[in-house]
Amino acid sequence: MIRHLLSGADLDAATATQILDTAAEMATVAGREVKKLPALRGRTVVNLFYEDSTRTRISFEAAAKRLSADVINFSAKGSSVTKGESLKDTALTLQAMGADAVVVRHPASGAPHRLADWVDGSVVNAGDGTHEHPTQALLDAYTMRSRLGRLAGLSVAVVGDVLHSRVARSNVLLLSTLGAKVTLVGPPTLIPVDIAAALAPGTAVSYDLDAVLPGVDVVMMLRVQRERMGDSYFPSAREYARRYGLDGPRLRRLPDHAIVMHPGPMNRGMEITPEVADSPRSTIVEQVANGVSVRMAVLYLLLGGNNR
Ligand code: ASP
Repeated sequence: MIRHLLSGADLDAATATQILDTAAEMATVAGREVKKLPALRGRTVVNLFYEDSTRTRISFEAAAKRLSADVINFSAKGSSVTKGESLKDTALTLQAMGADAVVVRHPASGAPHRLADWVDGSVVNAGDGTHEHPTQALLDAYTMRSRLGRLAGLSVAVVGDVLHSRVARSNVLLLSTLGAKVTLVGPPTLIPVDIAAALAPGTAVSYDLDAVLPGVDVVMMLRVQRERMGDSYFPSAREYARRYGLDGPRLRRLPDHAIVMHPGPMNRGMEITPEVADSPRSTIVEQVANGVSVRMAVLYLLLGGNNR
């Protein structure tokens, strides 16, 4: 098993499949009255969040607690970070506290990689800037596999703000490793020219959502990340929704078995309408539930739970 999970590219097909299979076992715990396993008793997991998060932070916390680890939540707001403490000094503090795993979210792309050089424990990237979010890709893959029965050969459209999306990057890397075919769809301003080829050969690009929909098994909508946009990337929210928003008529262009995904948080009415988000084709709530099982599997495997 790998020591850190920093990128979707850290996972070969066998390791990714092992994580997904372990997550399926972990999911059975969620159905029990007592949702706890003793696997990580006595181990310390630190959640180090320098950027806002709702579901990812709660999900990692629930995952660590269900494995009986001691959990320390460290949020940059209200800590010495606001007094200018560097990531390195924070890392040394965590090291002194004996963290076995550090789950880190940071606005700077690459911060988890730096952290991994400074601590002895495992580092899990919970989202770094516009770079990567590998556990999101794993929970997305898990959701696809449990809904559609396989990953190899699936056709997946990833739609919208690819430029600012760490979810898109990690998904392209992982899905191509697992044999799915990804098409990035969005306005040219939000799909960097060389991204598809740079991430994974075989990744396609389209600027025409309506043309892509009838041929996909999965459509993954991305949040338009306005907080990361300095300039204007499209004429207006209404124009964006008209060209690239998933609404009722577009939903009906999908094959009957196809599912609709979104990593959250959603801009309802922009990239996705409430009708679609709340439809039975949408897996958005399932993705959140699956996130806990997948993060349990990641923590368990990284911390050597299978060797003890
Ligand atoms: N929650 C995801 C992330 O942190 C997706 C998003 O924010 O749009 O990257």
